[in-house]
Amino acid sequence: MEQANHSNWVERSLQHVWHPCTQMQHHESVPLIPVSHGRGAWLYDMDGKRYLDAISSWWVNLFGHANPRINAELKDQLDKLEHAMLAGFTHAPVVELSEKLAALTGGALGHCFYASDGASAVEIALKMSFHAWRNGGQTDKQEFICVQGSYHGETVGALAVTDVSLFREAYGPMLQRAHVVASPDARLAQEGETAVDVALRAAADLERVLQQRAGKIAAVIIEPLVQCATGMAMHDPVYLRRLRALCDQYQVHLIADEIAVGCGRTGTFFACEAAQIWPDFLCLSKGISGGYLPLSLVMSTDAVYQAFYDADVRRGFLHSHSYTGNPLACRAALATLAIFEDEQVLEKNRAKAQALRAALSGLEGDARVRHLRQQGMILAFDAVVDDAAKAATFSRRFFAAGLQQELLLRPIGRSVYLMPPYILDAEEIALLATKTIQVFEQVMA
Ligand SMILES: *Cc1c(COP(=O)(O)O)cnc(C)c1O
Repeated sequence: MEQANHSNWVERSLQHVWHPCTQMQHHESVPLIPVSHGRGAWLYDMDGKRYLDAISSWWVNLFGHANPRINAELKDQLDKLEHAMLAGFTHAPVVELSEKLAALTGGALGHCFYASDGASAVEIALKMSFHAWRNGGQTDKQEFICVQGSYHGETVGALAVTDVSLFREAYGPMLQRAHVVASPDARLAQEGETAVDVALRAAADLERVLQQRAGKIAAVIIEPLVQCATGMAMHDPVYLRRLRALCDQYQVHLIADEIAVGCGRTGTFFACEAAQIWPDFLCLSKGISGGYLPLSLVMSTDAVYQAFYDADVRRGFLHSHSYTGNPLACRAALATLAIFEDEQVLEKNRAKAQALRAALSGLEGDARVRHLRQQGMILAFDAVVDDAAKAATFSRRFFAAGLQQELLLRPIGRSVYLMPPYILDAEEIALLATKTIQVFEQVMA
């Protein structure tokens, strides 16, 4: 009976739901899992089979599914105000959230502009930078710089600063391409080079472009510390310090896309804190609502805000989305921030990150494993697969094999990564490591 139920939902989904980031034909061989409910770090399907959500449901879930505290706050908010437009109106959740986030930057980024998804936050930061320069009379500053392998979302503006060809290729003619500069990815180290050397080399490449074109450049956009979507490429924080210095020197804005790396993922609440810098714009989404509701925002400096503050309506930032500052989403975010505050999450994560690394130490020195790397609650390694056909299907085979072992992991190419919710207990950490190694063995066999 339940079995029939399960396949029924899968069939109906494949009939009418167009799934994201998916070649739908692959579902002829790749399983589609109908989720019935979630609890903590686990998702349950309609047959009662469970899966350890080791990638936080695409990097959004921080404190588990059906988190009691977030649930309670949302239920309370639901009876007060589900939504009201944010033009001409305001409400407590959006005010409190903006205040709390501003305080987390020590006031450096004191103005929050809201949207619903990450790509929209990136669009907002790009438009704000462009428009701020324009309002200041610098109308030549129309171009952007991004880093090799960058991912900033898939709407047309965000795709223009994205350097993942799989996502961008088909849409080339639609895009106003940004300048792409060298990656600071520590994996690019040559014989005898350190991560710092790679970072400084990459920063020098950026400086060459700025020397030639700074007058035409509005902003540089970066994923601080970890370029996630390209395959968890990690760099030394010295790169961010150089970036900040170069942006100051050449009068260019710095946009930090912390959509994936913010909210404690890399060890500090904001990834930029590891380099002790603040950008001119900081984008947040994904984890900020605890993985509950679509919410994104762009934080900016007083200088940026003042560039728009004027009697002339056209000098204002007229951008909007229907659900800008949705009270339910803001309330979920407030509950998320309250958990960070009350439960010493960043401190506990340090111990969990260490435990996870220790549990996977068996992979060190394995000839089939390259670049075992970690930044806070992100751990990754690259599988060595020489056979081209096997390499091309590695990720799909790993995903399918993982599901058999109650494990939800979706490698990016041959980069296997763990990006679990912060609520894993010691037992779950051990289980995650054991299962990851088991699945790896199975897929490599
Ligand atoms: C996920 C992501 C985005 C896009 O967010 P969406 O909500 O998927 O539009 C942008 N930048 C980074 C770094 C991301 O990881």
